Amino acid sequence: MRLTPTQIAYRDAVRELCASLVPDEAARRRLTANDSLLHSEEAATAFAERDLLGVSLPEADGGAGRSFVEECLLLEETARTGVPLMAYSTALTAAQSYLRFGDATHRRTIVESLRHGHAESISFTEPEAGSDLASAQTTARRDGDDWVISGRKTWISFAHLARHLLVLTRTDDTGVRHDGLTLLMVPADAPGVTIRAIPTMGAHMVNDVFLDEVRVAGAAVVGQVGEAWRHLGRGLAVERLIIGAMCVGASQRALDQLVAHVTTRVQFGKPLSKKQAVAHRIADLATEIAVLRSFVYDVAERIDLGEEDALNFEASMAKLKGSETFKKTTLEAVQLMGGYGYGSEFGMEQQLRTAIAPTIYGGANEVQREIVARGLGL
Ligand SMILES: Cc1cc2nc3c(=O)[nH]c(=O)nc-3n(C[C@H](O)[C@H](O)[C@H](O)COP(=O)(O)OP(=O)(O)OC[C@H]3O[C@@H](n4cnc5c(N)ncnc54)[C@H](O)[C@@H]3O)c2cc1C
Repeated sequence: MRLTPTQIAYRDAVRELCASLVPDEAARRRLTANDSLLHSEEAATAFAERDLLGVSLPEADGGAGRSFVEECLLLEETARTGVPLMAYSTALTAAQSYLRFGDATHRRTIVESLRHGHAESISFTEPEAGSDLASAQTTARRDGDDWVISGRKTWISFAHLARHLLVLTRTDDTGVRHDGLTLLMVPADAPGVTIRAIPTMGAHMVNDVFLDEVRVAGAAVVGQVGEAWRHLGRGLAVERLIIGAMCVGASQRALDQLVAHVTTRVQFGKPLSKKQAVAHRIADLATEIAVLRSFVYDVAERIDLGEEDALNFEASMAKLKGSETFKKTTLEAVQLMGGYGYGSEFGMEQQLRTAIAPTIYGGANEVQREIVARGLGL
């Protein structure tokens, strides 16, 4: 696809800001607190001050009303340059449910939050409800006009930074389990909410969220009571594409560093890049990333054309291929950089650890393969 002049100007503004925030590796390490953070509020504020966030969100709700292609450019460029802005991708995903199903207050609140660079969380997964989300057991019971929520969510990205939690609750357990699920917008600082970091192989991203008799007003319901399952079935294409776009940038970052290493690292009297066995593997990676990029932007363009609800199959492919390409690129890079890939000081092992997560979140890749297989009629 060809970018429009507006999209090119936007990408250039994002690139310029990325370059000023992360002019070198020392600056990147400072912003990420030595790779212990995937999101920097300082970076998010810098993007917000330049009006670079929430560009796809509807004008009627306070957004810029432009394209999803531009969101993908932001996700790609920040991942490519290592600018820690990852909570924005979660917030953008959460925003889709509020925008599709929320009332005017939900929509305005969420758009304002994103435009200011605040984090937002999606609180769906539970200890006993992972891939099988319809078995969620966190309850919300009516008490007058209010809802009172009790339960536990787990693996919740950036809940520790978020303004609100979009909580999947069970409001009725008498019928079919896919019915009786309801989405609620919960302030992250509401009494009864406890957020606890979960240690992982990557930087701090995920949390346990404990909800102990958390009271919210009736207006906190996003969409229809009992309709969350059908609501969540829509908007998934955007969520998966967001992951795909981040993976384009993250894969390119690993590739760029790998190329820089093998062209300067001399062994047997020549740069490693002169070994055909090395160069051809890198050529394969570059080809995969280029094809991935084209596919991701093609899907993004179709979202902008209003075809989102028909893109379930393609969006799953974008998430699947993006996350597998990111993992493969970093794994290959570690191997081809030898000890310099394996050692923590040089950064590639950290990228490899980061690359494991997107194959799991946003629907494990095995689940994406099921969707693709079903789309093929298998
Ligand atoms: C880094 C990270 C961030 C996350 N962020 C969020 C968040 O912000 N909000 C949120 O609600 N959740 C979040 N999650 C949770 C994530 O969505 C779940 O981990 C994921 O859906 C898988 O659920 P599970 O971990 O319970 O694994 P399980 O459901 O127990 O599955 C384990 C494995 O079994 C296989 N499997 C599962 N189902 C199938 C199937 N149908 N067919 C074939 N194989 C299958 C897959 O290999 C899968 O990885 C996050 C997880 C991680 C790791």
